[in-house]
Amino acid sequence: MPEFKTVRGMRDFLPEETRMMKYVEKTARSVAESFGYEEIMTPLVESYELLAAKAGEEVRLRMFAFKDLGGRMVALRPEFTPSIARIVATALKNEPKPLRLFCLGSLYRYDEPQRGRYREFWQSDFELIGSAKPEADAELLILTSGLMERVGLKGCTFRVGHVGVLRGVLTQEGLDDKLQNGVLQLMDKKQYEDALGLVKTSGASEKCLTILRSLVELKGSDVSKAGETMKKCVDGYEKAVVAVENLSEILRLVVESGCEINISVEAGFARGLEYYTGMIFEAYVPELDVALSGGGRYDKLVELFGGEPTAAVGVANGVDRIMLAMQEQRVIMKEDAGKKIMIIPVGDETRAEALKISRALKNAGMVVEFEIMGRRIGKALEDADRRKIDYAVIVGKKELEEGKVSLKDLKKREQTTVKIEQLAETLKS
Ligand code: AMP
Repeated sequence: MPEFKTVRGMRDFLPEETRMMKYVEKTARSVAESFGYEEIMTPLVESYELLAAKAGEEVRLRMFAFKDLGGRMVALRPEFTPSIARIVATALKNEPKPLRLFCLGSLYRYDEPQRGRYREFWQSDFELIGSAKPEADAELLILTSGLMERVGLKGCTFRVGHVGVLRGVLTQEGLDDKLQNGVLQLMDKKQYEDALGLVKTSGASEKCLTILRSLVELKGSDVSKAGETMKKCVDGYEKAVVAVENLSEILRLVVESGCEINISVEAGFARGLEYYTGMIFEAYVPELDVALSGGGRYDKLVELFGGEPTAAVGVANGVDRIMLAMQEQRVIMKEDAGKKIMIIPVGDETRAEALKISRALKNAGMVVEFEIMGRRIGKALEDADRRKIDYAVIVGKKELEEGKVSLKDLKKREQTTVKIEQLAETLKS
């Protein structure tokens, strides 16, 4: 037999990694719920058409797409947003707005595997649907920052921009959407010279090129100052000015809300996905050069899937990368430390009674393992130590006859005899 391996880009999660992933998921769920978001679940397999409709070229070319046995062209979801837009346009069409939704699950992209980039990865997505107000954008930034804080990450920085600034300038210069998408994609890959080259060959003015150059260089952590500079820079480009004002208002709300968030305003910031229409952002920690989260406003997407024109803003948080960042920062997880108990029957004739005790403790909400290797007490206790068990309940024949068991505290190395009916109480206290 060959030695089987995971498929390229796919990973197994052993208990320790799984524990961390579940911790991140649990925290994401709890933060989302504290903001009033409700969880939904969408299929892993969606129609190719839906997924390809508005994904950028980048994602479209990297889908795990195939024909199912019924001859339908389908793909494994590379992101959640199209599924959410579909649901909002159909099943939740008549629900009063806003809708606050979140989902957790795996996604698939045929990316080149490397640290922090896998072909199967997990996201927790938060989507706020039905409001075009700056407080909605601000909520998403505050929510994402809350997630990073709650999982225990330090020094998180948010790169924030607004696609309306670049698009506003390009639209006034007569570039159509397709050309604009091309320019923004090059900018997203930091290929600024190629982006400017494309703008130039599209017949844009010299003034426009100068403005784009300044925008690319315009970065700042002082939110109001960056906004002022950006506004001066795009003077005369009406739509771009409106976009700058919108971005400034969003960031003012975030800062004045008291949310302790490091922001880097970047006027030339673009994101690969084509559907963004307003504020966009990515979250980083100093230890990793890849983004932990990416999000923004996508006001046209629901309409594209046949719904009413619906304003929406969302964020996708990369669970795998949050885990990597936690490992880098050596974050200690705040898990509810439920005590672990091991039941050890002494001799074959106590096994049934020991199983009964084990069931009773489990029913009382405790984590209980049963010694099933037929080991003698000494070996069983050694094994319990190795597995970081807190208490051993030793079920011996003599004690059983008196309705008792031996309870050993494996951390303190103390042993007492306890009545069976008082065991759960004793362990709980
Ligand atoms: P995107 O959907 O491309 O905006 O990505 C949002 C977030 O998902 C990123 O910030 C990453 O944390 C995560 N992500 C995207 N692609 C991958 C990948 N191939 N492997 C791991 N995480 C990813």
